[in-house]
Amino acid sequence: MPRPPSPHFCMKISKGWRVECESAVADIFDKQLTAVMQHATRMRPRAVYNALEARGGEVFLGGKRLVMAARNDYLGLSGHPRVVAAAADAARRWGASASASRLIGGTLTLHEELEARLAAFLDAEAVIVTTTGFEANLALAPLLGRGDIVFSDKANHASLIEAVRLGFADRRWYRHSDMADLERKLAVADPDAAKAILTDGLFSMEGDLCRLPELVSLARRYGARLVVDGAHDIGLLGPGGRGVTDHFGLPDAVDLHTGTLSKGFGSIGGFLAGPAEVIHYLRHTSRSVIFTTSIPPASAAAALAALTIIETEPERRARAFEVARRVRDGLRGLGFDTGESVTPIVPVITGRKELATALWREVLTEGVFTSAVSAPAVPEERSLVRLSLQATHTDEDIERILGAFAHAGRRLGLIPAGPPPVPV
Ligand code: PMP
Repeated sequence: MPRPPSPHFCMKISKGWRVECESAVADIFDKQLTAVMQHATRMRPRAVYNALEARGGEVFLGGKRLVMAARNDYLGLSGHPRVVAAAADAARRWGASASASRLIGGTLTLHEELEARLAAFLDAEAVIVTTTGFEANLALAPLLGRGDIVFSDKANHASLIEAVRLGFADRRWYRHSDMADLERKLAVADPDAAKAILTDGLFSMEGDLCRLPELVSLARRYGARLVVDGAHDIGLLGPGGRGVTDHFGLPDAVDLHTGTLSKGFGSIGGFLAGPAEVIHYLRHTSRSVIFTTSIPPASAAAALAALTIIETEPERRARAFEVARRVRDGLRGLGFDTGESVTPIVPVITGRKELATALWREVLTEGVFTSAVSAPAVPEERSLVRLSLQATHTDEDIERILGAFAHAGRRLGLIPAGPPPVPV
């Protein structure tokens, strides 16, 4: 039985209901959803969840086996036997949830062990672990106070953007990785204001790196703190896996790091790493730290096991980059535009959104699962199909990915006709 609408619930588009309001006051559901319906072709959400099945370590959609190239599990650790065993043991020992927030009974020895291990790994004075990477970024808000100025790359992740919105600092958005634009904005800003520059380390949509050397020198010149979201690079980049600082050989470049345990670490959770007093302050002021249940024991234990692998098996990073290079070179050889990517995030830039969607669909019919990305995640004219390559992709997977893009791209007329790609 459908629920009868309440008198004030005059949503015209739900289950065909069209009810007269008793109240003349605008209904908040009605207002938002009517606006969506007026832009039916542009904004109407289409079902884009594809419920995947897993069997014996392989992924299936509607019974069809797929090469999974959409997950951020760069090192393939989410299914690593030692990571899975650690998660299972912790769940047996502690239960499925910590069932409380950090300050009121939700701090387990596992959390403190994870914080100490991450601090040692990142050579940071202190670390706080959060329940997701999104929350780690939101936790920055108390640092961005009234009268301060925050400079944020336009391509930063949504969670960094939200942190800026949550804080009270003045905002300046600089063009993506445009150091001249950033400098112009720094130069005209009040010299007496406290400042922070916020950037992703490895940009999540196009796989390009932040310009760390230039960012550090601008930050130093203008007295700004540099805050880097290492969600995609920590674990994956640099000889020791410590992220962009390790990659650029600038261990002291970043004043405060945020990060996630849901990508290179194959688990879920987030963290902030930096000076002990700053972490202490955020532990006691950040609402996304205080008012949420702490990371589940299984996830904390999985991240700990993953960290050991990250520290001791650099060959996994090398393999992820090798897979990415072969896929990227193959795609470029076919005639696709893969942008500035130098990492296991490989974009296939189509420009128009419809083309990204069409390419994504065609590639899927060839048995390869990727993600189609359009505005607001990327600028309107830079829609793309995003590939996340993993250390665990096999040579056969690489061939299947390239074959799928060759067939799909030719069917859609996006690339010239030619022989099947030869993986390099
Ligand atoms: N930062 C960046 C750059 C990300 O790409 C993401 C997730 N896509 C996050 C933060 C949020 O991390 P999580 O998924 O752990 O919440």
